[in-house]
Amino acid sequence: MGDQPKPLAIGKHDPLLRTYHLLEHLRRDSGLFRRNEDAILAATNLVVFVFTMTGIVYATQHDHNPAIQTPVDALYFTVTSLTTTGYGDITLPGSSGRLLSVFVMICGVTLFFRLAQVVFRPYKVRFPCDACGLQRHEPDAVHCKACGNLLNIPDEGAD
Ligand SMILES: [Zn+2]
Repeated sequence: MGDQPKPLAIGKHDPLLRTYHLLEHLRRDSGLFRRNEDAILAATNLVVFVFTMTGIVYATQHDHNPAIQTPVDALYFTVTSLTTTGYGDITLPGSSGRLLSVFVMICGVTLFFRLAQVVFRPYKVRFPCDACGLQRHEPDAVHCKACGNLLNIPDEGAD
């Protein structure tokens, strides 16, 4: 047992692993983050997607598409597409433009509704049940809803 290689040593500087550690720290140290984790992650995903797609739309369109003159035009196209608004005053011509539009619509709408879903669903705390592993419980739950196991959800008693 003692001289087994440590599997984590190789990936210590792996950015994915660092993100994971960052999440662990935020979860432990910030009550605000713990209470809104899903919404914060969903919003982060959406913001990263919007700015990535704005960059791609601008880079691939601005030299031949008269409707996309500035990065703001690309941002406007991305946001109107992913909110399903789609005014239609800016379109991306050609097969590659249409494929890009389809990608923005499918991924963007998914991320957008994911954010709406976590913002509007009833608030629950994240606390894995020892017995069945159910993750989300009512904030004042004493017993697990799925298996009846006694829970011990930490409560700061602040509100
Ligand atoms: Zn349970």
